[in-house]
Amino acid sequence: MSTSRETVIGLEIHVQLATRTKMFCGDLVEFGAPPNTRVCPVCLGHPGALPVVNGAAVELALRTAAALDAEIHRTSLFARKNYFYPDLPKGYQISQYERPLATGGRLAVSDPEAGPGDGAEKPVRIRRIHLEEDAGQTLHDRLEGRTAVDLNRAGVPLMEVVTEPDLRSPGHARAFLAELKRLLEYLRVSDCDMEKGSLRVDANLSVRPAGTGPGTKTEVKNLNSFANVERALRFEAERQGGLLGRGREVVAETLLWDATVGETRPMRSKEEVEDYRYFPEPDLPPLVVDGEVVGAVRAALPEPPRHREARFRTEYGLPAYDAGVLTASREVADYFEAVARATGDAKAAGNWVMTDVMAWLNAAGWAIDRFPVGAERLGELIGLVRDGRVSRGMGGTVLGRMADTGRSAAEIIAAEGLEQVRDEGRLGEWVAAALAAHPEEADRLRAGEGRLLGFFVGDVMRRSDGVADPKRTAELIRRRLGE
Ligand code: MN
Repeated sequence: MSTSRETVIGLEIHVQLATRTKMFCGDLVEFGAPPNTRVCPVCLGHPGALPVVNGAAVELALRTAAALDAEIHRTSLFARKNYFYPDLPKGYQISQYERPLATGGRLAVSDPEAGPGDGAEKPVRIRRIHLEEDAGQTLHDRLEGRTAVDLNRAGVPLMEVVTEPDLRSPGHARAFLAELKRLLEYLRVSDCDMEKGSLRVDANLSVRPAGTGPGTKTEVKNLNSFANVERALRFEAERQGGLLGRGREVVAETLLWDATVGETRPMRSKEEVEDYRYFPEPDLPPLVVDGEVVGAVRAALPEPPRHREARFRTEYGLPAYDAGVLTASREVADYFEAVARATGDAKAAGNWVMTDVMAWLNAAGWAIDRFPVGAERLGELIGLVRDGRVSRGMGGTVLGRMADTGRSAAEIIAAEGLEQVRDEGRLGEWVAAALAAHPEEADRLRAGEGRLLGFFVGDVMRRSDGVADPKRTAELIRRRLGE
């Protein structure tokens, strides 16, 4: 019976735009500033204070609209969305309603829960993209037994991206959000830091018999992590499916997700009415976007992460997993490609970036833009490993020293005696010492117990402080014992 039902999901995503100042005034956008210190008559809504549109916010929204193939409207309008809330001193939010900045558009994302033969990439249609301002925050943990209001966030620029109900499973919704987040980060539109509330999601879901008209949907508000989006949607799909299975009706309502209990709960009824009495914002002229500006925005778009991931597989022959890791952020992808260019060996470049470089960054707790070894210098090191000057294993140590000291690979290898020893004379001494130290194991290896070869190579590596060429060492041991 469940196979004949279809889950239909749509998302509204509020994205905090990475601007220096607020949407309609010059106050700084600064997370964590002392409460109520980044406010002025405009964002507090004092009578007579006039808003002015932040051009940088418009540009970031245009960038997003262009990257999502949305239709950018030459003229859009700001509107007042009226509601009363303690963190909204103006009594209304300036948003866009009937004529948003952009409509249409799409982002292709495959549904991980799709049945066999149905898992191909699905274009998720975008309904609209509009600009608005954020509200302040009520704080319940600052004053004993009382609620405080911080209005620093009031007026911070937001972009709202609304999808059509094209998502077919909670996993699909989560995959869409991950792809959208990656795109927004590539576009440098937002820091997308969910812990700071830079990305907030409202998700609506209905369950309907396959192929029929829309079922009754419920909306879960203000989800602050992708995991919670998926869990809340899974809960709602179950709950609605259960109601329909018992012949009962789903009530259209707005819900909150209680992550601790793991269930949705109805919000106050005030929120369900949704009579915002939108009307055109009288203090702002229509927003007119020049065709030339749009052209410039389009021309400056970076390669979208999805394309880049596919290109890494075809152009460099990287496995799907590696292509995903190396395109997770634009900075990692840029660094990898620079190393690949410097060495002419993309496989080796990918291997070094995914292992040694990322391990170093994880240990330091830094992002790749702070990695002290430039792509050219890592390219040199990879070349020295390829030429056998230093072993791959010792190369990792050399990279760590390069990061710590700022010196080049060749300098460190020479100064610290890390050059790989391939000379049979010196290798022979270590091999002889290793065999002499373990006569019993040597006999067993001679008698055909092949796995002891690794034991002796390891012994030589220790004796040589890691500089012996392991391949040549193994050859030499075999030859000595064969004699
Ligand atoms: Mn909104």
